[in-house]
Amino acid sequence: MDDISQDIQEKYEWLYGSSITFMEVLHAAYRNKNPNAAFFIRDSSFLKELPSDLNHRFRQDDEFSRRQIQLYKENVKKRFPDQVFTYKPEVESVDKTSSQVKLTNLEEFSNQVLTFFKSAISKIYPLEEVQPEVEVTLMDKLEEEQNLFIDYKTELVFGRQIEIDKLKDCSNDNFQKDCLSEYGGKNDDKSYEELKEKFKSSDDDELLKLILAEPGMGKSAVLAKLVQKIQENDENDLFYHFVPVSATTRESSIIIKRMLSFFIKDEKELKILEEKLPEEMIISLLAYLRKNPVKKRTYILIDAVNEMRSSGSHEHLNWLPPTFPKNIHCLVSCNTVHQHTLRKLAAKQPLVFSLTPLDKESVLNIIDYYLGMFNKKLDSHQKQLLSENDGASTPLWLRLACEELRIYGDFNTLSKKIELLPNDLKTLIEDILKRLQTEAAIENRKALNGTLCLLYAARTGLSEDDIPVLLGSENEPIAPLVWAETRRLLKQFLRIIYETRTGYERIDFIHDSVRLAVKSVLLPESKDTIKWHYKLANFLLNDAKKAPFSVDEIPYHLEASYQRGKLLDFMRKNPLSQRIPTYDRAQYVNNLKCTSFVHSNLSKVKSHSEIEMTVCHICQTGMKGGLNPIFNRPTEACYICGQWLGSGHLNKNKIYMCMQHSNMYRHNCVLCNSFQGSMKQKDNNLYVCHQCTFGYKYNLCNYLDTTNESVEES
Ligand SMILES: [Zn+2]
Ligand SMILES: [Zn+2]
Ligand SMILES: [Zn+2]
Ligand SMILES: [Zn+2]
Repeated sequence: MDDISQDIQEKYEWLYGSSITFMEVLHAAYRNKNPNAAFFIRDSSFLKELPSDLNHRFRQDDEFSRRQIQLYKENVKKRFPDQVFTYKPEVESVDKTSSQVKLTNLEEFSNQVLTFFKSAISKIYPLEEVQPEVEVTLMDKLEEEQNLFIDYKTELVFGRQIEIDKLKDCSNDNFQKDCLSEYGGKNDDKSYEELKEKFKSSDDDELLKLILAEPGMGKSAVLAKLVQKIQENDENDLFYHFVPVSATTRESSIIIKRMLSFFIKDEKELKILEEKLPEEMIISLLAYLRKNPVKKRTYILIDAVNEMRSSGSHEHLNWLPPTFPKNIHCLVSCNTVHQHTLRKLAAKQPLVFSLTPLDKESVLNIIDYYLGMFNKKLDSHQKQLLSENDGASTPLWLRLACEELRIYGDFNTLSKKIELLPNDLKTLIEDILKRLQTEAAIENRKALNGTLCLLYAARTGLSEDDIPVLLGSENEPIAPLVWAETRRLLKQFLRIIYETRTGYERIDFIHDSVRLAVKSVLLPESKDTIKWHYKLANFLLNDAKKAPFSVDEIPYHLEASYQRGKLLDFMRKNPLSQRIPTYDRAQYVNNLKCTSFVHSNLSKVKSHSEIEMTVCHICQTGMKGGLNPIFNRPTEACYICGQWLGSGHLNKNKIYMCMQHSNMYRHNCVLCNSFQGSMKQKDNNLYVCHQCTFGYKYNLCNYLDTTNESVEES
């Protein structure tokens, strides 16, 4: 009992003097009347066949314990009448020297166990699709995912009580002002005022609040704890969104939709809002909330905005208002290293709360707790040594370091091992990766490295079924045993994500720091990743069943592996590409543009016809394929994003070529390259829409360069 830390005793309401097994039963089954618990009670009649000196090995010696167990069995039978089974073993043999007793007649027992498990599993996961009475919506599923993530994250949070209380209290005094001045912030009051104007901020609004923390500091875990804290009573209302949960939850559109459906219960009102653009949705939501003020204090928590899919784009976080109507406290979290996100947030001049490193006491508690789960402990000198490492105040560092020590085999050099632990998270992860590489058997090493590289390139995780196929050779996945070993070695770096939209389970890294470490150990140069993108692009394109769900990833990998021709083909011919938002389509195709200057001043060029981009009369009909998969006439669609522009001239901008490309195409069709000579058709110009001029109007060459194909798979 004294071996069990105070923390665990409190967490599980430990009954003084009871064994771990007893507490396991009590906590996991008895207290919550778990329908999945089965109790197997051994009939003691076989004891009569045993030599009496061996009896003590199967029953308690003292009367008190015997009585306690008897009582315990009776209670279990009362509470779980259908879940208690008895079995009647017989003695098969007794080894005189070792006193080993071998029991037999256990078939009945093993059958009971198996049957019980099977029926318990089929209750939760019925084999036949049972249509639920109420249809489970995407929003419900997303919420379930969020809650699972919170459970996963809060498991290992210690201390942090003061921080969590301060965040819950949310008074402005707990936050700092002007923290992000190096990213703009206060220095740009004009755009701040414009922003407030846009979102119709009022004077008594609550300011946006930002939780800032170094990577691995446990942002998500603290926010998850905060969620639980706020939920302890129903004085407050709470909306929360953890961005890192899955690929779906990284989308700004999903965050906004979830937020809308949290605040607006009126279906009709909701429908109208959901038609709008992201920023307009939020502006309308704020207007709605000003008209219908919230009754309770309401929190909006959004974790890890730096991990959103938009985090590299200009539009990133444009929808996030700088202030919220009275009584609505919006807290977002971000790491201290994603510059673009920090600049975007600085423009909103948020109040800042910096998450500081763990205090010493929490560090010591975590060490005890983590190693205690495996019945291990460090002596006080070793504990001191570990807690004095600068890295120890970072929760993720501490957890990984404890795991390293737990599996370290040589007790005599353990202290030395602790001394040599690097003091920063990235190096620690790199060291572990290098250790795994040397530990893996030669035949497994390739799979180990391959898995890490694939997950790095995949950016949103991969399905467990796909990785062995991707790592195998032609039609031959790697052996299940090799994959199982790889999976085991990498266990501490991987987590499973249930992808709501697709129903697939995906594997991804537990944390962005792992991704960064993989890059520096295995993919130090940017060209190293090309072959993995190449593999993924072609794999996803050829998997007809999964392609619809990975439609966003296909152009991403095609671009990253420089398969420019295939990328353009995908956008123009593959019907799946219609699912890609117009803005993203435009970005991908625009990146293929030649972009040399057409002419510094187009109005000075005498004849435009030489540099105008035109098509032949056959291409013009759309017969040979268009600029999008729905075969609009090329002259009626945008050359870049492919959207239909109509036959009129509204919102259409003629496009031109640079000197080099007009030399190649002035007599030829831009699409099929057939010779036109001077027979150029009337009205056969190509156009781009207003958005796809990207502000340059006529000045840049729009010729799409699809040469420079990727180096073949090495
Ligand atoms: Zn002209
Ligand atoms: Zn366009
Ligand atoms: Zn050009
Ligand atoms: Zn043509």
